[in-house]
Amino acid sequence: MTETIANNQFRPPIVAVMGHIDHGKTTLLDKIRQANIAAREAGGITQHISSYQTTVKLKSGKTGTITFIDTPGHAAFCNMRSRGANSTDIAILVISAVDGVMTQTKECIHEIKKSNIPVIVAMNKIDLEGSSPEKIKGQLVELDLTPEEYGGQVAVIPVSAKTGQGIDDLLEMILLNAEIMELKNEPEASLEAMIIESRLDKSRGPVASAIVKKGTIHNGDIVYVENIFCKVKAMINSNGQNITEAGPSTPVEILGFEKTPSVGGLILDHSVKVDHNETLSLPIRDITNNSPRLNIVLRADVEGTLEALKASFGDDVLVISAGVGAVTDNDIFVAENAHAEIFAFNVAVPKFIKNLANNQKVKIFESKIIYEIIENIQTQVLKLLDPTIEETVLGEAKVIAEFKIEKVRIAGIQVTKGEITKGDLIHLKRDDQIIKDTKVEGIHQAKNIIDKAKSGGEFGITFRPYIDFNLGDAIIAYK
Ligand code: GDP
Repeated sequence: MTETIANNQFRPPIVAVMGHIDHGKTTLLDKIRQANIAAREAGGITQHISSYQTTVKLKSGKTGTITFIDTPGHAAFCNMRSRGANSTDIAILVISAVDGVMTQTKECIHEIKKSNIPVIVAMNKIDLEGSSPEKIKGQLVELDLTPEEYGGQVAVIPVSAKTGQGIDDLLEMILLNAEIMELKNEPEASLEAMIIESRLDKSRGPVASAIVKKGTIHNGDIVYVENIFCKVKAMINSNGQNITEAGPSTPVEILGFEKTPSVGGLILDHSVKVDHNETLSLPIRDITNNSPRLNIVLRADVEGTLEALKASFGDDVLVISAGVGAVTDNDIFVAENAHAEIFAFNVAVPKFIKNLANNQKVKIFESKIIYEIIENIQTQVLKLLDPTIEETVLGEAKVIAEFKIEKVRIAGIQVTKGEITKGDLIHLKRDDQIIKDTKVEGIHQAKNIIDKAKSGGEFGITFRPYIDFNLGDAIIAYK
């Protein structure tokens, strides 16, 4: 019997593939895509893409359409969850049967559990000699993801993304889950689409990849992501073809945004205005004082650290509000009202919060190192007390590429002025605004590690604390 779940009543499942780096996410996604692409198109598939829709035909005779999303890190996943707009229907957790559960695997499990979506474990690399499926199943039991064969709820499918073994079973399980979920197809509903990738293209301007959850995007439509306006100029599907409309579960690349929207952002067909009064629930302390003070909003991972930080400041620092856990939109509005900067120690700052902070012109300084927070605050206090302390620009550069060395994201930069030296303080600027202050950790030129990047040359640099740079960002080294 042949069944299709992509009919008028139901939409295809949106499946997020997650997992620890190197466990085979990319290989699995590419393998599924290559196996199910028409032969005439296969030649065109040379590059890995972050999302695609494919119609699979299984050995059982069943066919169905599935939309896959690659989740780079798990930022996109976290963001959409924190908005309460869960754009993923099913999570595939890829775990290497050789290496087992690792840090990012645990983070993914945490996110999946919080979002309450069904998870299927793809136990990958079973073609390798060192693979030990039973050990991994044991680890899953400990993490409260008990496999079905141990009496739990979680389907664990042994696969090899390399040889293709088991992939048919994995797809079968996805379709089975989707059938049970009866995902309503609502092409006429108000638009809800999630940004899963966003970049600035030199010739095409801002380009965003999105997955439509509800409603339909048409060419020429006016849409918004957090008040960023877009008149849809063109849409491209995952096969590289121009399309004029994109309905539920369709992955699509959209051109026409006035600015690059943030990953995890929701595309809606109306502009969302945030009501400041409504979110301002924290009491604001009296900040009228004649002597100059630095107003700050503090966030830390645990109560103890928060108290330690608060105790380290003198009278010239006024803590407007302080809390444990991730930076919230409320913090942004409190900071905006009090002209304060936010300091986040070892807590998450979701992408949409960064974006909101940007829009409201609120600075957030993040670090996992306590003295960096204290040092940064002290520097700012000094500047406040003596405004004649001026910055001298040492060098300027632009981020023109990104690559990885041993899993570390490195910014490929072109130095346009002066020079940048290892250890320099830097501002990262985007659209002429300082997004973040950090330091140069290391400089690479070709395969060598060097100390100075001079004007005219191209280099790779790493930052400490790490910053989430984009192509096109400016880097200003200063003293
Ligand atoms: P990702 O970081 O999770 O996207 O991992 P990749 O897909 O890039 O895979 C990391 C490495 O593992 C690559 O060298 C792959 O060729 C290899 N790999 C992925 N899946 C398998 C598998 O099933 N079997 C074997 N033998 N190697 C695999």
